[in-house]
Amino acid sequence: GAVPRAPYLDDLNPAQRAAVEALDGPVLMLAGAGTGKTKALTARIAHLLTTGRARPNEILAVTFTNKAAREMRTRIGRMVGEAVEGMPWLGTFHAICVKLLRRHAELVGLRSNFTILDTDDQVRLLKQLVQAAGIDEKRWPARQLAHVIDGWKNRALGPDRIPVGDVSAFDGKGVDLYAAYQARLRDLNAVDFGDLLLHVIAIFKAHEDVLAQYQRWFRYILVDEYQDTNIAQYLWLRLLAQGHRNICCVGDDDQSIYGWRGAEVGNILRFEQDFPGAAVIRLEQNYRSTPHILGAAGAVIAANKGRLGKTLWTSLNEGEKVRLIGHWDGEEEARWIGEEIEAMQRGTRGMDPIPLDGIAVLVRASHQMRSFEDRFLTIGLPYRVIGGPRFYERQEIRDAMAYFRLAVSPDDDLAFERIVNTPKRGLGDKAVQTIQVVARQNRVSLLDGARIATDSRLVAGKGGNELRVFVQAMERWHDQVVREGDTHVELAQMILDESGYTAMWQNDKSPEAAGRLENLKELVKALEQFDSLQGFLEHVALVMDNASEDGGEKVSIMTLHAAKGLEFPAVFLPGWEDGLFPSQRSMDEGGLKGLEEERRLAYVGLTRAERVAIVSFAGNRRVHGQWQSSLPSRFIDELPKEHVEVLTPPGLYGGGYGAAGMAVGASPVLQAGMASDLAERAARADVYASPGWRRLQARAQVRPQDRFGREPGESRGLTIDATADSSFTLGDRVFHQKFGYGRIVGAEGDKLDIAFEKAGEKKVVAKFVVPAPG
Ligand code: ATP
Ligand code: MG
Repeated sequence: GAVPRAPYLDDLNPAQRAAVEALDGPVLMLAGAGTGKTKALTARIAHLLTTGRARPNEILAVTFTNKAAREMRTRIGRMVGEAVEGMPWLGTFHAICVKLLRRHAELVGLRSNFTILDTDDQVRLLKQLVQAAGIDEKRWPARQLAHVIDGWKNRALGPDRIPVGDVSAFDGKGVDLYAAYQARLRDLNAVDFGDLLLHVIAIFKAHEDVLAQYQRWFRYILVDEYQDTNIAQYLWLRLLAQGHRNICCVGDDDQSIYGWRGAEVGNILRFEQDFPGAAVIRLEQNYRSTPHILGAAGAVIAANKGRLGKTLWTSLNEGEKVRLIGHWDGEEEARWIGEEIEAMQRGTRGMDPIPLDGIAVLVRASHQMRSFEDRFLTIGLPYRVIGGPRFYERQEIRDAMAYFRLAVSPDDDLAFERIVNTPKRGLGDKAVQTIQVVARQNRVSLLDGARIATDSRLVAGKGGNELRVFVQAMERWHDQVVREGDTHVELAQMILDESGYTAMWQNDKSPEAAGRLENLKELVKALEQFDSLQGFLEHVALVMDNASEDGGEKVSIMTLHAAKGLEFPAVFLPGWEDGLFPSQRSMDEGGLKGLEEERRLAYVGLTRAERVAIVSFAGNRRVHGQWQSSLPSRFIDELPKEHVEVLTPPGLYGGGYGAAGMAVGASPVLQAGMASDLAERAARADVYASPGWRRLQARAQVRPQDRFGREPGESRGLTIDATADSSFTLGDRVFHQKFGYGRIVGAEGDKLDIAFEKAGEKKVVAKFVVPAPG
């Protein structure tokens, strides 16, 4: 029929337009980043609506995240107006399956008001089953079982369909426990995330009439980010699309980054076999990024072997090269990025100012976020963390903080409740109730109540003994806080270790455990910047406060995984070091699989940037309380010289150790960029007189062992030339970030006694002060 002229068709290129106008039959849009796949998919939905092919509630549109769904809804709204409000089936797989399952719950033995368990609930339930089965939970933690079961659910395998190769899972008891778990969920009228899809697939398979009804109802199916669908999602889509075959999938094999969670890039590569006669549309023009950014991203991904390969071009002006900068350590990286963001906001390098909403920091691992959160908070730079809780909201961090809070304030009852049985001390609900009653009767804190309850043997047995140990330890830690015996950093570490909290996660075999331990280390590291536990807790209270306020312009901090599909004028990509990115795990595996997924992640990261991409790495990071140097990421070597500008670290304090101190490791890009720069800077004698240079010498002098985690001569990557002998001397005027200006009145080890002009006399770690004029 006559297709009304629609403005949304006008801003599409011919290939996109073909994808939008090929309304019937299977369509695959397979194209690189930023080529307008999502834009075309959105226009296609608008077109279906305006041409009357489907009513809003007859379109099934699947996105990868809720954020993506919201954005798509807004974009469609702009094209078709309020019709978008009638689209209940635009959302994530999970959101759509919840709706379907509520309608047909009884077909799988549930009631429509079933509850959805989160990961913690899931693990708690599995723990009960593991215990009931008499399995040694230390060797076979429930979290590991949860991981195994999730894996099966991703592959759409119920307990009755586990392949022989998998029956040995979880000490040969995995399959039985899986069956028991499913039975238990049913009794509880509950489902976990994986069940949402699994149950709906089961319903479709067992009830042809129900399936047929939805096959007719969903006249058009559209899927974004198809490369990251898992087998269960794939089967679900195929069942629904079988009848009319009006399915349009878009994706990019180079952006498949969820293999670790069961995604099958094979799904997208197999599309033409699954849907013979599919129109395959390739888009090659990138509208998002400048040529330098695209060139850099393209070169990185070209190093992968297993890929289809695509051409990408852009008509945009050349723009800025990808900037590359190395830093002394992670803290300095965060500091530099904070300042660079402030500069961008004002407009730098002759560029228009970039608002904070247009700036993102994309990290490989969530534990990297902490240093950025702290830094941005310190300089008052508004930020938001997207996807996943902020650092201080994470379970393990809250637990650890509860220990610190109780050690500082023994009457903090909320903190007591949180940790009295974490790790498990054999205290049941009844024991905890007893403590509460005793505390109330005696009008004392829960901690005091616990002491009374154990002394009077109201709480006895194994739990009572462990409780006594806990109470005594807490009193000892409190004493130390009061007496300021050990440094607060040592004390914090001691509390985590002696309480058994560290061991709890060390014994935990789940995939998250390693990350949680990393986060705990980050937490202890963060303490170094404060002068007491108390001061630290106050700081965190501020961070938390900042968390509740919303609205307004903010920098986004998120993982690379969470950044999929998004775009920002300026993107920071910190932590490009071997062992962090690519992750140690992917390097240890040896094979290509893990490493290639990491490389796709690098590609995703770079291609988020519209105008500015800044890659950075730190020569030193603290690992296990020791400074370790690391090599710049191998991905840095894959960035072509012609697209990269190597920046010399300014040295935040005026000079720069980029000059003579930086020995560049294996990276040809770095060597090329640095060589000329080094020569130039070395020629500037004033460098050696600058405060930055003096500071570096001082730092390198203090405890080289600490700094490098090994002898300086052995260190790899960035090293500082620590030969000169000048250092702080008594009477020097210095500046400390927290306490301001002061004069050195004494020194001991790596600590300085400083008489601060405002804050009085304090002992501070030498590396946190810089020389000040006067
Ligand atoms: P990714 O693979 O990262 O998800 P994508 O292929 O989905 O990327 P989009 O997000 O749809 O790409 O588009 C990238 C940018 O290019 C958006 O800002 C979009 O508005 C713009 N764009 C897409 N197509 C065109 C076009 N034909 N003309 C002008 N701008 C376009
Ligand atoms: Mg997209």
